[in-house]
Amino acid sequence: MTDQVKLSPDSAKDRPAERETFDVVIVGAGFGGLAALHKFRDELGYSVRLIEAASGAGGVWYWNGYPGARCDVESLQYALAFSPELTQEWSWTERFSAQPEILAYVNHVVERFDMARDMRLDTRVTSASYDETSANWIIKTDRGDQYDARYVIMATGPLSTPYMPAWPGLDDFKGEIHHTGLWPHEPVDLSDKRVAIVGTGSSGVQAATAVSQEAEHLFVFQRTPHHIVPATNRPLDGDEQNAVKARYPELYANWTSSPAGMSWRSLPTDDPVVTGDKSALEVGDEERQATFERAWNYGGTTLHRSFNDLLIDERASQYANEFIAGKIATLVKDPETAALLVPTQYYGTKRLILETGYYEIFNQPNVTLVDAKSDPIECLTAKGIRTGSTDYDVDVIIFATGYDALTGSLNRIDIRGRDGMTLADAWRDGPQSHLGIMVSGFPNIFLISGPQSPSALANVIVANEQQVNWVSDAVRYLDDHDIPAMEPETEAQAKWVEEVNARGMASIYTKGANWYWGANINGKSPSFLCFINFADYKAACDEIASTHYSGFVLADAKQSA
Ligand code: NAP
Repeated sequence: MTDQVKLSPDSAKDRPAERETFDVVIVGAGFGGLAALHKFRDELGYSVRLIEAASGAGGVWYWNGYPGARCDVESLQYALAFSPELTQEWSWTERFSAQPEILAYVNHVVERFDMARDMRLDTRVTSASYDETSANWIIKTDRGDQYDARYVIMATGPLSTPYMPAWPGLDDFKGEIHHTGLWPHEPVDLSDKRVAIVGTGSSGVQAATAVSQEAEHLFVFQRTPHHIVPATNRPLDGDEQNAVKARYPELYANWTSSPAGMSWRSLPTDDPVVTGDKSALEVGDEERQATFERAWNYGGTTLHRSFNDLLIDERASQYANEFIAGKIATLVKDPETAALLVPTQYYGTKRLILETGYYEIFNQPNVTLVDAKSDPIECLTAKGIRTGSTDYDVDVIIFATGYDALTGSLNRIDIRGRDGMTLADAWRDGPQSHLGIMVSGFPNIFLISGPQSPSALANVIVANEQQVNWVSDAVRYLDDHDIPAMEPETEAQAKWVEEVNARGMASIYTKGANWYWGANINGKSPSFLCFINFADYKAACDEIASTHYSGFVLADAKQSA
């Protein structure tokens, strides 16, 4: 498997700075950026330049090459759909794909659609400024490039700015430091090393499981026990894949009209018995236990949908917690360690984590669970990590401490709209957008997976393509009607922000500290960052498009000329 896109001569590291004009500049070569490149260049015939900071395409799948990295959306649903041929020709090897296989798929897409020639790798966009006179954007990079473009598409990703708490002593540590979200592309040798992993979200759980197999000793620093259930990963056989391929358009339509952008009633892997039609409160103990058990064994996110009120009702949520606690007690031999792993917050408050052998690592003599809640990390020292009570001497520290989600990657680019207003200033008290796609005062710049869109709470590839389709329809509408620019009406934008926050506040997600509302980062303005319910979102987008972009200001061609 290749692990990065071949560099075309133009994107070699020593290329000269460019000064060019394009119809569309796309920032980011993750799934959203690649879908946009295909749509605008191959389907609509626009001139396009795609700029990417990494040395290869793939976005998070380029950067997250840490040991054990794997997707928690089923492979058969986690793929691009823009080309019917692509959906038929690619085959996955496992129910949940590992990062190298996803990266190989990305590189296949790049090569198959000849994308590298319009990409510039190893190039970071530093600023984008709107010139009101010409209704053009001027995009500058750290390589000295300057691109002029009528449209900008920010496909910078919802979870692409790694977050690391600013502990004192970070510079004092003499060993190696890595973040799961910035994993080196050179091999990292952890064998016979003393390793600390800080954080037990999806990244930390996967990394700890893999690293426990090679490290001399692994210390897992856990602050909050998350809800962790078996992935029940397995090889995918040909018949199973062919059954999905044969019904692809019908299944895809099903996914795009479901709340999470994927569906559990359409895959051969779905359990026909766990229907999620009942409340956890309306059944007896025996039936509830049997349903939980069946969902647990089926794996993936089946437990999530075993009853229809786990994410809504406090008692139902407690039943799920009790069931998980019972499982942990049978899997982890040391009762104290088992007790520490039991989640106490509402079921579903943080993203459900899929594991393969995670609980069992705590039965190994070379693994120690450190309770970073009762004994928090105070600082790093030359030799390792110091908590209130103990010094943990290690050779390597792996931070799995998450991301400055949704706004982080946009805020670190100097984006300036009308009157030189910066996006960072416009969002000082939390993001403001319409549909999570456009921001008032910033005409013709479109966000893919932006804050206040559902992408990070849904099947992100399906959500990305839905947004790319909406944006390209809008752009075509502007061009067909000779309209130079569009941006949200402030009133419509305010209503959208209100709706996003109302849904967030009414949900389970705001009952705990998590990245869905910026609560994982000290000082980040609290504001709900994701629109809940992809199906409702798509309906809202469709409605706006069908009413010729009501809620958006479409500039008059003569006024801007
Ligand atoms: P995360 O879910 O935000 O987890 C960060 C971890 O770091 C948490 O355990 C957090 O503890 C801990 N942490 C942060 N600051 C700390 C501190 N000062 N002291 C001690 N611990 C601290 O990040 P992630 O695991 O990278 O996952 C982020 C998202 O990426 C996921 O929710 C998922 O959407 C996506 N992802 C998906 C996959 C997959 O598909 N399987 C894999 C990786 C990531 P607290 O919980 O106490 O805050």
